[in-house]
Amino acid sequence: MKKVSLIGSTGSIGTQAIEVCLRHPDKFRIIALCAGRRGGLFERQVKALSPKFYGTADSGDCTPLAALEEADIIFNAASGFAGLAYSFAAVAAGKTLALANKETLVCGGEIIIALAKKTGARIIPVDSEHSAIWQCLGFGERKAEKLIITASGGPFRDADESELERVTPELALKHPTWNMGKKVTVDSATLMNKAYEVMEAHFLYGTPYGDITAVIHPQSIVHSMVQFADGAILAQMNKPDMKLPIQLALSYPERLDCGLENLDFGKAFTLEFLPLDVRRYPCFALGMQAAYEGGIAPCVLNAADETAVSAFLGGRIPFTRICGVVEYTLRKTPREKLADMASLVRADAAARRIAAEYMDG
Ligand code: MG
Repeated sequence: MKKVSLIGSTGSIGTQAIEVCLRHPDKFRIIALCAGRRGGLFERQVKALSPKFYGTADSGDCTPLAALEEADIIFNAASGFAGLAYSFAAVAAGKTLALANKETLVCGGEIIIALAKKTGARIIPVDSEHSAIWQCLGFGERKAEKLIITASGGPFRDADESELERVTPELALKHPTWNMGKKVTVDSATLMNKAYEVMEAHFLYGTPYGDITAVIHPQSIVHSMVQFADGAILAQMNKPDMKLPIQLALSYPERLDCGLENLDFGKAFTLEFLPLDVRRYPCFALGMQAAYEGGIAPCVLNAADETAVSAFLGGRIPFTRICGVVEYTLRKTPREKLADMASLVRADAAARRIAAEYMDG
């Protein structure tokens, strides 16, 4: 029986993590539950699961639950930059961290990975692409020469410029293959999300950026691939559903029934792979620019993107302006040396201010 502390229980990944745990009550028990704030869903979760500990981020309860002594796994499904603090607490305490919070490695990859080496903390990926790579590498036992990360291309893969200008939040939130939270769905439409995932893969597997390729794969069946020294490529496939990587992060090294529909080879289907055209996805290019710069730059990128996407979802800027806001903020935010959490918090705040002022001006 694995005891789980779940941070970020009310979001898309958090609610699915609960479903996975309830599917296997003999394997997992949620002993701690944390959400951003109180609300109907959280109250219902507490009532249904009766966790030993629970609390909310706005009351400051989540950080201790992220380092909870009696938990076997800390599952971090918190969203946004705020989630980084929980990963930091878990890794500092040497815990096993099932990581769904992207900002942890995008913003804090350099310090989080160094800290994990020191404390012996283990980081297990929950994102489908990184889980696929982890599986192809024999749960991280082997080293690959190259990583190939797949991207669906989002809902506007074939849209022309004038169509992009008219994209509404409703249209952007209709992802063709995945059902996810709002921020990540918009990031999947701009492909900023794919730049984040390249950064996460770089930190998780120690692969140089030059050896990581992102490729468009509209069907989202192949979740990512690895290429070995002899040229052999391994891929991990299943119908797109986050339950599989969520469950595997919890059940590892065991594989359990996931209740998902299997691929049916009794029917013909096609898998396509297309090169990623960076001119079509300027946010991806900006993201990679920040990745190569390193240090504080990815944190600035993320803060600018969170601010711009929230403005788009609030109807304050058009879809096509997201990238311009990020570009401006990345250019204007002064660079401080990345030394610790405090330097990230300062860079995050500075970038948010610069992005907001630019949008208001
Ligand atoms: Mg992903």
